[in-house]
Amino acid sequence: MKRAARAPPVRPAARPGRGNRTRPRTEWERLSAEIRSCRKCPLGSVRTHAVVYRGGRHPRVVFVGEAPGAEEDRTGVPFVGRSGHELDRAVASLGLSAEEFGVLNVLKCRPPKNRFDRAAARTCRPYLDRQLALLRPEVIVTLGGRALAAIDPSTPAVLTAAGRAREGTDPAHFPLLHPAAALRSLRWRARWEKDLKALAQWLTERRA
Ligand code: URA
Repeated sequence: MKRAARAPPVRPAARPGRGNRTRPRTEWERLSAEIRSCRKCPLGSVRTHAVVYRGGRHPRVVFVGEAPGAEEDRTGVPFVGRSGHELDRAVASLGLSAEEFGVLNVLKCRPPKNRFDRAAARTCRPYLDRQLALLRPEVIVTLGGRALAAIDPSTPAVLTAAGRAREGTDPAHFPLLHPAAALRSLRWRARWEKDLKALAQWLTERRA
């Protein structure tokens, strides 16, 4: 006896409107949406916006900061306050195009009174690892002691480590002071500028 032809599977109808356009499509978009809606630690209920990333999708250099400040919390974009302007000047001096660099933080949410929260950093850590695994930069530049300790806990203090590439890491790792240091005093600005020159030279040599 002939079997009746099977009906084709019914696909759920595409929902019209915004729903479809805003649904994350790539792993990166899924991760970013996950971070934006994260409530895994208490910072999730005191933030205005979780701060994910700004920069190219395949950057050569990723700058890793500590935690969002007030401006970043307000806008949801990393490094847009005074430290951010300093960082952007530094990026321009390195000759990196908009696609060639990216900026993110160890903590995705602003801690109250800007006090770095170690417990939150542990909870946030998988986000940082997943972001770096998807971005696959050639070089990570850590900004300040907290970012340095998160990326490479075996490093000496930031003042000793800044301005020199760490040997044998993949991706390569070059620590800097936090750009806020350059705003603090002429002495720290001089150190920031000196370390930046060392980074510029090192990046040029790597390209050669
Ligand atoms: N400082 C940081 O470490 N990150 C920011 O996004 C802003 C200031």
